[in-house]
Amino acid sequence: NDLNFSGGPGALPHEVLLQAQQAMIALPETGLSVLGMSHRSAWFRELLDEAEQHIRDLLNLEDRYAVLFLQGGSSLQFSMIPANFAHGAKRPTEFVASGYWSGKAIGEAACAAPVKVLWDGGADGYHRLPDFEELAWNPQAPFFHYVSNETVEGLQFHQTPRMEGATVISDMSSDFLSRPIDAGRYAMIYAHAQKNLGPAGVTVAILDTALLDRIPDGLPPMLDYRTHVRHRSIYNTPPVFSLYALTLICRWLRQDIGGLDAMEAINSLKAGRLYQCLDDMGGLVIPQAERDFRSQMNVAFRFRDTRLDALCLQEAADAGFSGLGGHRSIGGLRASIYNAVLPAAVELLAEFLEDFARRHG
Ligand code: PLP
Repeated sequence: NDLNFSGGPGALPHEVLLQAQQAMIALPETGLSVLGMSHRSAWFRELLDEAEQHIRDLLNLEDRYAVLFLQGGSSLQFSMIPANFAHGAKRPTEFVASGYWSGKAIGEAACAAPVKVLWDGGADGYHRLPDFEELAWNPQAPFFHYVSNETVEGLQFHQTPRMEGATVISDMSSDFLSRPIDAGRYAMIYAHAQKNLGPAGVTVAILDTALLDRIPDGLPPMLDYRTHVRHRSIYNTPPVFSLYALTLICRWLRQDIGGLDAMEAINSLKAGRLYQCLDDMGGLVIPQAERDFRSQMNVAFRFRDTRLDALCLQEAADAGFSGLGGHRSIGGLRASIYNAVLPAAVELLAEFLEDFARRHG
């Protein structure tokens, strides 16, 4: 587990795995296996309330936000958001096309509403990101959507949009709770769990309750955010185990790590070590992201000599590293260094890469 650099689902903290293992047999609080716990039990309601409170505290959320735990992954948000907020709109929804996942979001939104792409990094192969200040956004657009960290290309925004009057929505699936954010700038933030929050099965959606007034009647209840607000995330059977793991991870993040400032400091160190290592390889490798847009979560690169990609992956696997293959859409290599990946594991990977470069440079 310690050398798991997979893009998603990602590694989980060792302490959490041990607690989850114990809970599979019997929860300390109930004596029953977490896998058999009813979502209608008082234990589960308390668990969800605790999870919500952790997220509120970690992000300093104002009371105007609802925190929902949904299913269907972040992909369902790609179509739920336009169905709820762009129905019958006179103006197009606005997007930044910064990589693979924003492409998916745009494609799915286009099924529900007219879409306008304000900036597109596709023509030059997704190596950089725009400056929010330079985008010609329209405050009357139903919403403005961007992906804060492009998981596949390893591109991360290091600025917060300051777009007074715009309905800013961000897919933070792959960098949620990896650093502090100015949550009050957003109308909605969503993130699936399987990067920094646990196993797949649950997606966190944080939305300004003022948005609820824009939802048209007649949507299927499962696809209407108001249903989940009303039922406080227990409309139907939620993934109890995933939510249990999510809660353990929130406790770990606060108690063991010390919150988001501390988490960001650790993540910066890890990313800094890896990028330095790639830079020191002197042209043997090409990082996917230009310097200012480098992700602290996904370090994507390839060798100038493409034959070395496969060789490096093979040697890495032989040395015990896993999950280093680049996403199928771009190939190359990608080290995903989510919250739970230890600095010591990153150090081992950097040393492996340095040794590889010495032998093949
Ligand atoms: N958004 C981002 C940034 C992602 O990285 C992913 C998947 O990795 C998705 C959306 C899709 O998420 P899901 O598989 O939960 O639907």
